[in-house]
Amino acid sequence: MGPSWHPNLWHPFTQVAVADPPLRAVRGEGAELELDDGRRLIDAISSWWVTLHGHGEPTIAAALARQAATLEQVGFSDFRHPPAEALAERLCTASGLDRLFFSDNGSTAVEVALKIAWQWWRNRGEERRQLIAFDGAYHGDTFGAMAVGARSLFSAPFEPLLFAVARAPWPATWWDDAAIEAKEATALAALDALLEVPTAAVILEPLMQGAGGMALVRPAFLQAVEQRVRAAGTLLIADEVMTGFGRSGSLFACQRAGIQPDLMALSKGLTGGFLPMGATLAREAIFAGFIGSDPALTLFHGHSYTANPLGCAAALASLDLLEAAPERYRELEARHRPRLEALAREPRVRQPRLLGSIAAFDLAVDDPPGYLNPVGRRLQRLALAQGVFLRPLGQVVYLLPPLCITDSQLAHCYDAIRRALPEL
Ligand SMILES: *Cc1c(COP(=O)(O)O)cnc(C)c1O
Repeated sequence: MGPSWHPNLWHPFTQVAVADPPLRAVRGEGAELELDDGRRLIDAISSWWVTLHGHGEPTIAAALARQAATLEQVGFSDFRHPPAEALAERLCTASGLDRLFFSDNGSTAVEVALKIAWQWWRNRGEERRQLIAFDGAYHGDTFGAMAVGARSLFSAPFEPLLFAVARAPWPATWWDDAAIEAKEATALAALDALLEVPTAAVILEPLMQGAGGMALVRPAFLQAVEQRVRAAGTLLIADEVMTGFGRSGSLFACQRAGIQPDLMALSKGLTGGFLPMGATLAREAIFAGFIGSDPALTLFHGHSYTANPLGCAAALASLDLLEAAPERYRELEARHRPRLEALAREPRVRQPRLLGSIAAFDLAVDDPPGYLNPVGRRLQRLALAQGVFLRPLGQVVYLLPPLCITDSQLAHCYDAIRRALPEL
């Protein structure tokens, strides 16, 4: 039996009329997924960027089993618990921030950051109604996260419901990019003009935009943005949902970029890819703005599963792994580099770029670039036939493997792409 559709499932981002039916996964181990027909695939995109150390990582699995037998869930407005305390302490120390608010995924981590920033000004009695985001940004699929994301095919049906957001250019760069200085100057001038309006917050994906096309910027650009945010007295929100937990080559991309945000959104790699969980970190001065006898100062936001102990236990085990072997995330960029250099010599490969565990490039195409460009799906099929699971964003191809990927598995991913190129 080949791949087919289940009569009761509704898949995300999937047009049933044209998509290939989903593969049926039955097991995961390390960098590999096993299908019901026994085939094994290299998961070259870490199952949508969440599987950090590898599938079925045994120490996380064991930590989860222990926690499940101890305390699986408790409401987080009347209770606290040891795994939440330990995780908050470790993430605050690691991020340079002071308070952690738990939610369920990357979109909610962003929503919470936006609500905190917005209400913080209101609680101070200041009118700051402008939010600034960047062209090409992706911050999630809930309404607030959609609103700060770039308007796209995804958000079009909901356009009238989305709040207004001011937008600055994102000076994306790649190897041997001669125009970068000019692009950055244009973006900073646009940001300067926007910041003349009282602004509640500036939100960005530090160093690399994800779903918007793996669009890399230079640390110096983010430092210049932070300088302007400080001069304008506004708040900087870093959406590290994709870049966090070593993906950028540092524990957080903000550290590699040399910036310190006021608020940070985390998810995806947070639990090592085992459970959905989001976290929004904030400076103490922001938390302080919500304290007082007037109930209206309260952050009235929460989710049933806030700070779920299982999620916290998985996240703690994942942090243990990152701390025990930081070279795994620090060295993946150097393992990618020679392979991406070789691939970049292929005629259709454009704009190679690399950040930590994430290698990306564009395929030269004749039809319009973007998420719907069919070349991505063609490459996906050709790679699949060679045992590699990719999910290009239109003509943007990327490898974002689990940190446990072996050299031979990584070589196999690059070989599969190289062999597919002439057939595209
Ligand atoms: C994936 C992603 C989100 C949304 O996270 P979900 O868990 O899918 O809701 C937000 N921001 C960035 C940068 C992301 O990559």
